[in-house]
Amino acid sequence: MRLLNRHHIRSELNKYGVKPRKKLGQSFLANVQVAQRIVDAAEIAAEDTVLEIGGGLGVLTEILVSRAKRVYVVEIDERLVAALREKLGDVGGLSVIHGDFLEMNLPDVKKVVSNLPFSASSPITFRILRELKPESSILMYQKEFAERMVAERGSKEYSRLTVAVNYIAEVEPLFEVPSHFFYPKPAVNSLVVRMTPRKGGIRARSDRVFYWMLRGVYSYPKKQLRRALQIWLKNLNVDRRLADDILDSVEHVDGKMRLRNLSVEELVRLSDHITDLIEEGVIPHPKDARI
Ligand code: SAH
Repeated sequence: MRLLNRHHIRSELNKYGVKPRKKLGQSFLANVQVAQRIVDAAEIAAEDTVLEIGGGLGVLTEILVSRAKRVYVVEIDERLVAALREKLGDVGGLSVIHGDFLEMNLPDVKKVVSNLPFSASSPITFRILRELKPESSILMYQKEFAERMVAERGSKEYSRLTVAVNYIAEVEPLFEVPSHFFYPKPAVNSLVVRMTPRKGGIRARSDRVFYWMLRGVYSYPKKQLRRALQIWLKNLNVDRRLADDILDSVEHVDGKMRLRNLSVEELVRLSDHITDLIEEGVIPHPKDARI
């Protein structure tokens, strides 16, 4: 793209009849240097295959196709699909896919690069991690969201998202992008991160039980673990006094700890004990495995 600033993005959007929609997380990057930095961070080799989620007007796509062997770009908004096809349709090695990343059949790719639609950051992140499983991803998030992904144990940002992501991935913050580099200008800055699958980390006997337990107890992040377990058990129609038995059985996990102080390892041990109790018929089987 020869010229790229917010004014230019606005006129391109007008040209293709696109009125930016919050519901689709449409916030377009309007700075070439930032686009280049994002793609540089992906360290793309000439034989790489790459998926871009949410191509928009193709600011990142254009750079990606000049570096990778094959680029798949998925875009949900048909007017932007038309824009991508008109602007980049003839470029070799590029497949423009009209669809929803959360529903599509996933291509086999080594890397993911995306200025993520903030409206669907969480489900998209977990689909990348659990189903697509690329070697590495360079992803731009709203800063607050990314800060929860990289939060230190004990901090107020340390949450269910922190644990669920760190259970399966390593996340490294790379650089911040000010909100005035986007059109429309979002309320907050963005943060670019590198995400890679965690190798050799501790895993629960059942991923399903682990995520289910997280959803159950982390609804109450400020609470002490004992209290959060009691509430969860009660919601499951199990005698809440079982919480104390559970805490007695799991070593080095203290009911007085606040949830934000629990490590992934401690939660895995807790989850493995819950799995025992499910097998013994004391706790019902998980109905819900969403994250
Ligand atoms: N990559 C562009 C656009 C980023 S805005 C840029 O950096 O400027 C996010 C884009 O994701 C929008 O184009 C939006 O239409 C698209 N999008 C939103 N939800 C999507 C989904 N579920 N699947 C695929 N694309 C999606």
